[in-house]
Amino acid sequence: MAGFKTKAIHVGQEPEQVTGAVAVPVFQTSTYAQQELGRHAPFDYARTINPTRVALEKNLAALENGQYGFSFASGMAAIAGALSLVKNGDHVVAGSDMYGGSYRYFSRILAENGVEFSYVDMRNSKNVEAAIKSNTKLIYCETPTNPMMNLVDLKEVSAIAKAKKLISVVDNTFMSPYFQNPLDMGIDIVLHSATKYIGGHSDVIGGAVITSNPELAERIKFYQNSAGAVPGPWDVWLLLRSVKTLALRMEAHNANAIQIAEYLSKQKKIAKVFYPGLASHPQHELAKRQMRGFGGIISIETGSQESAKRFTSRLTVFTLGESLGGVESLVCHPVTMTHGSVPPERRAELGITGGLIRLSVGIEDIADLMEDINRGLDAI
Ligand SMILES: *Cc1c(COP(=O)(O)O)cnc(C)c1O
Repeated sequence: MAGFKTKAIHVGQEPEQVTGAVAVPVFQTSTYAQQELGRHAPFDYARTINPTRVALEKNLAALENGQYGFSFASGMAAIAGALSLVKNGDHVVAGSDMYGGSYRYFSRILAENGVEFSYVDMRNSKNVEAAIKSNTKLIYCETPTNPMMNLVDLKEVSAIAKAKKLISVVDNTFMSPYFQNPLDMGIDIVLHSATKYIGGHSDVIGGAVITSNPELAERIKFYQNSAGAVPGPWDVWLLLRSVKTLALRMEAHNANAIQIAEYLSKQKKIAKVFYPGLASHPQHELAKRQMRGFGGIISIETGSQESAKRFTSRLTVFTLGESLGGVESLVCHPVTMTHGSVPPERRAELGITGGLIRLSVGIEDIADLMEDINRGLDAI
């Protein structure tokens, strides 16, 4: 089964063996009856293995063209899983521009436990190479980045990682497996906040780690079971249901976002529009090369925090809220919301200003979204 939509609907989701149920059942159990002493294959305890979770893990692995999938209780738990591959004394080269919560985990938890980090502008792969030290073990990035929509050339980064025998990890949350597959570009590990596009309905928290490397898979699996941040069967079931429409939703997000980004880029009141689908995006050519679409996230510079406040206060279809990737449109003010934990000097360097607004374009009717955007613009 090669096609994305077919895989999304069928992989890991064969009719259930006992009853033939077409939808994978919610196996709400913590333990399993064992046949006799020392014989229990393969189900023993539900932190270790759950059939509903296995279905999701197989499915997500297939969508990322990977061999092994692991689901976690949140995107952050997935990130912790991938970063469990480094220890005290190891060095990580990470992108300077990333989800605020990832930066907080790196700088406040891992760094305090002795993992060293260098944050570099990964728009230029040479910066990655220059930051590598004798104790470097892992390269970590997002592309496009949150919220500046900068891109990282994944083929170049994976080539550097391979040459230096480092583990490469990519947070693919913004593109979802439908628009970008980092493993195909030589990246070792891809991860997701499934809370966003994979879940897609703003009703579940989840995460996933996928790889094709058996040795790394073994270590992630050991971590997943030992640390235990696994999702419950209902959350997993919601994600399985969501993933079936991922392709349709991503197409709709993409189509709406392109129209809105193009419209905003023509408005004098908006100083800058950050969207990789615009020909004016400095990395538009790379975007076309490594992604199959441009996604639903657009950041805009309104000029000041006051303008950002006025713009957001007039929106009625876009809801002011953290998160992204749901069917409903959301608007976020990174400085006071998602990136509040990033120090102000770092935010200034990255261009995360008080005037910056991030739109997560939903799949509502484009005419209604446009009307809403115009209401916001009128208020500036
Ligand atoms: C939201 C998000 C995360 C964290 O995921 P949770 O599910 O909220 O724990 C990580 N990376 C990116 C890019 C995100 O947008």
